[in-house]
Amino acid sequence: MTELTHYLNGAHVKGTSGRFADVMNPATGEVQAKVPLASAAELAQAVDYAAAAQPGWAAVNPQRRARVMMKFVDLLNRDMDKLAEALSREHGKTLPDAAGDVQRGLEVVEYCIGAPQMLKGEYTDSAGPGIDMYSMRQPLGVTAGITPFNFPAMIPMWMFAPAIACGNAFILKPSERDPSVPLMLAELMEEAGLPKGILQVVNGDKEAVDAILDHPVIQSIGFVGSTPIAEYIYGRGCSNGKRVQCFGGAKNHMIIMPDADMDQAADALIGAGYGAAGERCMAISVAVPVGDETADRLIEKLVPRIEKLKVGPYTAGNDVDYGPVVTKAAKENILRLVQSGVDQGAKLVVDGRNFSLQGYEDGYFVGAHLFDHVTKDMDIYKTEIFGPVLSTVRAQTYEEALSLAMDHEYGNGTAIFTRDGDAARDFANRINIGMVGINVPIPVPLAYHTFGGWKKSVFGDLNQHGPDAFKFYTRTKTVTARWPSGIKEGGEFSIPVME
Ligand code: NAD
Repeated sequence: MTELTHYLNGAHVKGTSGRFADVMNPATGEVQAKVPLASAAELAQAVDYAAAAQPGWAAVNPQRRARVMMKFVDLLNRDMDKLAEALSREHGKTLPDAAGDVQRGLEVVEYCIGAPQMLKGEYTDSAGPGIDMYSMRQPLGVTAGITPFNFPAMIPMWMFAPAIACGNAFILKPSERDPSVPLMLAELMEEAGLPKGILQVVNGDKEAVDAILDHPVIQSIGFVGSTPIAEYIYGRGCSNGKRVQCFGGAKNHMIIMPDADMDQAADALIGAGYGAAGERCMAISVAVPVGDETADRLIEKLVPRIEKLKVGPYTAGNDVDYGPVVTKAAKENILRLVQSGVDQGAKLVVDGRNFSLQGYEDGYFVGAHLFDHVTKDMDIYKTEIFGPVLSTVRAQTYEEALSLAMDHEYGNGTAIFTRDGDAARDFANRINIGMVGINVPIPVPLAYHTFGGWKKSVFGDLNQHGPDAFKFYTRTKTVTARWPSGIKEGGEFSIPVME
């Protein structure tokens, strides 16, 4: 049995709390490692290391800090296969999807190579008589991040790359479900030249999170995960005077207009609804065809595609479209919600409830499900299922479809499929959701734009990555300077030399 560690001050350190969590192999249902769950004292030790190392790192000029990021990109590319394999083994997603998880994090690291440009301040010459004014962005100090299981490479990198490029120290508390890749990333950052203590990994659960929330030295907290925990972290972190940004759950609607290319829309829904077993905060979980004829055509296209989906372990290579869900509890919860959909009157068009994979009977595989005639009052509509379950809600008009998405409590992502530019434009302008796709099902913005939802999908103001990250991880200081006249009147105008 592998016993995982924390990564503190440049070294793998065994847990001392005596508490551990099992790290499962979701494909087999076997325990493959134990991860230590940190106590408040272990977290405090990490904070001490970070606080000692951070001023030295902040004093390194931004271009040199950026070079560490440059080297880190090389190392991520060098170790891509190794990282993807470790990620799939604990998370369950397919290898190409795991490599995509690393890649979307890597792209934010690339963006952070522009730190010298991003951190350049503002300057006003002669703001008053003899007065100049300038603003600079300075690091916060010790920062921390708490990340979810579903993107164990990408989301940690979205946080620590900008934090560290800005001159902060960063303490990562990754998900206890898949902690190996975060540990590997910390090692690679040091191989890239990062001084020890600047990026540390403290494994743990609520106890470690609460210790982060309450530690007076930690200046900021980034959180990504489910909405109830996001709300809790935002409230407690803010009341402790920290800068906090929390990104929560989702229920992303895709509107399909009657004029949409129905094959394209169906293909998009298959990838966005069932990819990664539906365990993406940007997954499409609600299809909203406009008009019954559109709905009938869509369902007709979806059913054969869903029935062809290949579900299996990542070790089966390219023969697999999606893998198991993350835990037995997640599987049970998904199947419970599916049953509630049936009980509440939705039509289960594709029933994956009896899915079983020969040789992997104890794995957490869930067959693909498709519901039709879902209504707003059903639990499968109101709840984030986070599994391979797509709900179809039929709307009679465009306005009804728009209102559905707008009235839902979550507001992470959405999409519209249409050939009509006017409808697409109206949708993009009026919708109260943070990320919008037009004939694009999963509109995850690239690294140089920002990522974030609206409504109950977010707590806080600034988004992740892009220019917002450089604002989140720095404080502005503005200097007003007046230099009394003096030396130049009687000054020496020849080049100064040492006497
Ligand atoms: P989760 O909320 O269970 O866990 C997230 C983190 O919080 C983990 O590190 C976990 O250890 C910690 N945590 C869990 N319970 C806690 C508690 N009671 N007190 C303190 N800390 C606690 O989320 P998850 O299951 O790991 O991830 C899936 C969720 O994340 C989904 O809701 C998904 O939509 C969301 N998500 C959102 C985004 C986004 O950008 N909006 C991105 C990815 C995932």
